[in-house]
Amino acid sequence: MLAPAAEARGAERELIDFALENCAYFPEFVSEIERISGVDCDYRENGTLLVALNNDDRLALTHVEPLQKEFGLSVEWLSGKEARKLEPFISPRVIGALWARNDKHVNPRALHRALLKAFESEGGKVIVSDEYPRILQQADGIRGASCASEGKEVKIPAEQVVVAAGAWTNDILGEDLRLPMRPILGQYIRLIGEEVLEHVVRTPDVYLVPRAGGELFVGASAEDMGFTLQNTAGVIGDLLQNAWRACPAVSELKIEEVAVGFRPALRDNLPAMGQWGPKGLFVATGHFRHGVMLAPLSGRLVADIMLGKGDGQGRKAFDPKRFSGGKATELQFF
Ligand SMILES: Cc1cc2nc3c(=O)[nH]c(=O)nc-3n(C[C@H](O)[C@H](O)[C@H](O)COP(=O)(O)OP(=O)(O)OC[C@H]3O[C@@H](n4cnc5c(N)ncnc54)[C@H](O)[C@@H]3O)c2cc1C
Repeated sequence: MLAPAAEARGAERELIDFALENCAYFPEFVSEIERISGVDCDYRENGTLLVALNNDDRLALTHVEPLQKEFGLSVEWLSGKEARKLEPFISPRVIGALWARNDKHVNPRALHRALLKAFESEGGKVIVSDEYPRILQQADGIRGASCASEGKEVKIPAEQVVVAAGAWTNDILGEDLRLPMRPILGQYIRLIGEEVLEHVVRTPDVYLVPRAGGELFVGASAEDMGFTLQNTAGVIGDLLQNAWRACPAVSELKIEEVAVGFRPALRDNLPAMGQWGPKGLFVATGHFRHGVMLAPLSGRLVADIMLGKGDGQGRKAFDPKRFSGGKATELQFF
């Protein structure tokens, strides 16, 4: 989802501003990537319906409304009947909704495929490593990276290296350059069948994202559990029940996939993009809940820093050196 205010509740102003800039740039970004790659990213600009099934939900939505307005995003209160006009399959129990018509969404898997294809067709080379890549370094700075591909060691000479391994970034950076990173587990379900929704539908407990081909993404938990790579009956049961409460028609859909992902969260929940540690080493990580939404301008920001464009300093709030000036940091959980 590309939903700056709904997702950024309680977040820093810098993050929200950056999210808004990314959302404004997204249409141009997607059409360029689609043009180069020939891959349809299923990008939609058809808004989110934040529905209330009871008075508690409605109260929660009254906190979202002023935030959306503060950021200049249009939101409108709808009655239950008006909400059902937009989405006929939502529950008859919906008592009202906030209609955030500016929200957008994109299929992240399709976008990932498109980016890989576009990267390769512009001359980039993707090497899928059999093991953790290593950073090659000498006293005066970075010399490149090495990895193993099809059993052979591959050395990639470079004066600049960006580590962008999400929640696993510390596995590559190593002990001395550790960032205060923790993985936030997200369990989710992909359903498939007849198209039951046209817009993203959200309650305080679940969100439903319609995608091409009759897919409906049901997400997602947010659990601070370390790298626990498994789905649990309780969480998946709750997601399905909450999805059914919002839109009873989901009970007819088939379960295509039940899976988990890890959101890379730094101590202050802001991303870290910029130079880190020895000369020539950069990180682009910590995008937590917003990595898809923030992708286009994160790429540009890191490229500008590496090329020394502008003042070459990037955005202060996202500078990795806020974690003790590029020295080793203590891992802290909160
Ligand atoms: C359930 C769920 C729902 C989400 N919904 C949204 C949403 O609606 N909108 C939004 O903007 N964001 C959303 N996010 C967050 C978003 O997915 C992340 O912020 C984003 O994926 C972070 O991107 P990244 O490239 O930094 O890390 P990742 O996407 O995690 O990519 C890291 C990559 O590094 C690779 N890797 C791991 N270890 C190594 C290693 N040792 N060496 C080399 N490579 C390695 C991994 O295989 C992976 O390909 C969601 C996340 C989850 C889990």
